[in-house]
Amino acid sequence: MKIILFGPPGAGKGTQASLIQKQFDIPHLSTGNIFREAIKNETELGKKVKKILDAGDLVPDHVVVDLVAEELEKDHYANGYILDGFPRTVSQAESFDQLLKSKKQNLDAFIFLKVPEEELVKRILARGEGRSDDTEEGVRKRLAVYEKETKPVKEYYEENDIVFEVDGTGTVDQIFARIRALLEN
Ligand code: ADP
Repeated sequence: MKIILFGPPGAGKGTQASLIQKQFDIPHLSTGNIFREAIKNETELGKKVKKILDAGDLVPDHVVVDLVAEELEKDHYANGYILDGFPRTVSQAESFDQLLKSKKQNLDAFIFLKVPEEELVKRILARGEGRSDDTEEGVRKRLAVYEKETKPVKEYYEENDIVFEVDGTGTVDQIFARIRALLEN
């Protein structure tokens, strides 16, 4: 099963993706996690993206697209995957479509985790993961980038009839139960 888990920053994509991974045995690919790991390990990629992440901006499309294409070559993802944080622009979605087409593959579901904006800010500031972009200013910036660059990605997929909206409020278990019901059908 190939799934895109989509939603604004703070919607709980990472948390839900790990639960889906466990329940359905599908690997989770988070571009944000890959970037944070690269920054921590001070790799070439990490050096290239650190300032961008700290500012709450988006990493250039070609960098992300190449990274995801390379990652998906691994055997690990042969039977499917959950994408979290990608695609984040319409251009990334178009490139990803091309990639799938070239492999004669299809996407099974685009899950939109819907959470009101005020709740998002509260959650991110409360999660206290110590992420350098989790300041009030950083969060507002990421939300603004989401509205402008990322939200149109949902409209892009709506043309394919694979978009499922899930209420992203409530407890982690309640939200997961909604996703699970959807994926079991
Ligand atoms: P969140 O959604 O909570 O802000 P993520 O972990 O998904 O966090 O992403 C953190 C940062 O990583 C983003 O603000 C952005 O700088 C960078 N990033 C992650 N995925 C992408 C992507 N697909 N395109 C461009 N930048 C990305």
